[in-house]
Amino acid sequence: MKADSLRAAIRDVVDFPKPGIIFKDITPILADGKLFRESISLLCKTAGGVKIDKVVGIDARGFIFAAAVADRLGAGFVPVRKKGKLPWKTRQTAYSLEYGDSIVELHEDAILPGESILLVDDLLATGGTAAAAVKLLDELGANIIGISVLIELGFLQGRAKLAPRPVHAILTC
Ligand code: AMP
Repeated sequence: MKADSLRAAIRDVVDFPKPGIIFKDITPILADGKLFRESISLLCKTAGGVKIDKVVGIDARGFIFAAAVADRLGAGFVPVRKKGKLPWKTRQTAYSLEYGDSIVELHEDAILPGESILLVDDLLATGGTAAAAVKLLDELGANIIGISVLIELGFLQGRAKLAPRPVHAILTC
């Protein structure tokens, strides 16, 4: 029922940012205090009660959810950013997404080996972005507890790229 309210608030924007893409606009959820809080509660539950040291958010909408989840769980927040945005020494990896190619970066001292990590993004499409973030986290020795997203585009089977890691989606479209 709660997930249904979130689903009803998501706005499908056809042909954005390019023809053939149906963009899932989550700003109506963010703009509604009850829905935003509910989305954070549901994402927090995906940690399954495991103590999380750091919540890692993916640029840019992932930051919004990940930072709130981190606060709620009493964990730190770490950004995975698009190339050229992080000021310190980084690790980087290239990947392709539903509508283009990109490079993501992580500060090389952002995660200590063995730290428990929850990776959070707004949406899982092809899984390329999350897989790139996982690669960087693996390089730093993170203990990835799970990958949690608000929306999964199930038809793209992005979670196959992340197996055998646990993927939790609040909504599947
Ligand atoms: P992917 O790497 O293909 O799984 O793409 C996931 C990333 O791209 C997420 O950070 C999303 O914010 C964004 N994204 C991809 N497809 C969409 C879509 N149809 N609607 C909204 N965001 C999307």
